[in-house]
Amino acid sequence: EIELSDRVQRIQPSPTLAVSALAAQLRAEGRDIVGLGAGEPDFDTPEHIKQAAVDALARGETKYTPVDGTVSLKAAIIRKFDRDNGLTFTPDQILVSSGGKQSIFNLCQALLNPGDEVVIPAPYWVSYPDIALLAGARPVVVSAEQEAGFRITGAQLEAAITPNTRLVFLNSPSNPTGAAYSAEQLTELAEVLRRHPRVVIATDDMYEHILFGSKPFVNIVNVAPDLLDRTVVLNGVSKAYAMTGWRIGYAGGPKNLIAAMKKIQSQSTSNPTSIAQAGAEAALDGDQDCVVAMCSAFAERARRVVDGLNAINGIECLMPDGTFYCFPRVTGLMQAADIDTDVALTKQLLDEVGVALVPGSAFGAPGHVRVSFATSVDQLDKALERLRQFVANHS
Ligand code: PLP
Repeated sequence: EIELSDRVQRIQPSPTLAVSALAAQLRAEGRDIVGLGAGEPDFDTPEHIKQAAVDALARGETKYTPVDGTVSLKAAIIRKFDRDNGLTFTPDQILVSSGGKQSIFNLCQALLNPGDEVVIPAPYWVSYPDIALLAGARPVVVSAEQEAGFRITGAQLEAAITPNTRLVFLNSPSNPTGAAYSAEQLTELAEVLRRHPRVVIATDDMYEHILFGSKPFVNIVNVAPDLLDRTVVLNGVSKAYAMTGWRIGYAGGPKNLIAAMKKIQSQSTSNPTSIAQAGAEAALDGDQDCVVAMCSAFAERARRVVDGLNAINGIECLMPDGTFYCFPRVTGLMQAADIDTDVALTKQLLDEVGVALVPGSAFGAPGHVRVSFATSVDQLDKALERLRQFVANHS
């Protein structure tokens, strides 16, 4: 056995993998599995985006680009921030990376020292704590319950901040809950953060465009522009344009922090893929109708799934504000079936009725499951029918 670094031993393999691996194994054995575990849109990347990458390939754009992204993609990102978010950035405030996840990784590597604390509201996106741990920092989880709409309050944030706090993650709309913060709620958090000038804010806007209802998207710097000089705005094309495999994410933020993130990237992956950058540019500059169409499909499915889940005994589900996830509490179901943990419940659901879900404990919220509705209405109806069957089996 080779002796491994302390660093790698600090982190856990994703608990979601256990369910995905079991689902794959059951499928290989010929079982009919309905997968509601996907973290990506089920739609294909829109044609004009694919064509832009094909054109770039034909033009021979197959070489290194600047580490921080092509001049023209960065210009498209600057236009996007201005158009959608009312934010003004210069090119030296923008870094393009190989997916939103790399932007977050670069940020943590560039900002955090051992002993630093990172405030992470739960339910959280699975990777925040592990990326913080890899940087030697300590995740400080602040839990928001279903009763609170899965949103933390200013008082909770204040209580979590210590002299060691360097970074706070905000993710709205959220993976896994679909909950979005209102302008008022963000203002409350901003008031707390204003009192702690050493704390950097990471606003992960990855699901900005998958927002239901009539209220426009807002992030913390929209309600508190004075915090912009210590906020990193994280976004990417993965979810909005169904481009998860292309691996393009980007960050806008303070010059010296972006330069430091670029330095980390220059010694790890260098530039993101040249032709994927051309595709991302077409996505950001092109017709946005595709985004609207995907969003309304997700909104329609959200209603269908949440209504279906709430009609099942032992499941209580909030209507998400956006994303393609909802995050029902399933403690009633666990009790009825005499199952102790959400991990055991997801295993049994897979085994007994062939429905794959991700356990809430993967997101720091035991007693829940994440349901992805990035799949067809037929599959969703089938999953609901099977969940009803499971309840019938155990009552
Ligand atoms: N942030 C959130 C909240 C996400 O859900 C994801 C993907 O699941 C990412 C960032 C990273 O996206 P990417 O696939 O671009 O790395």
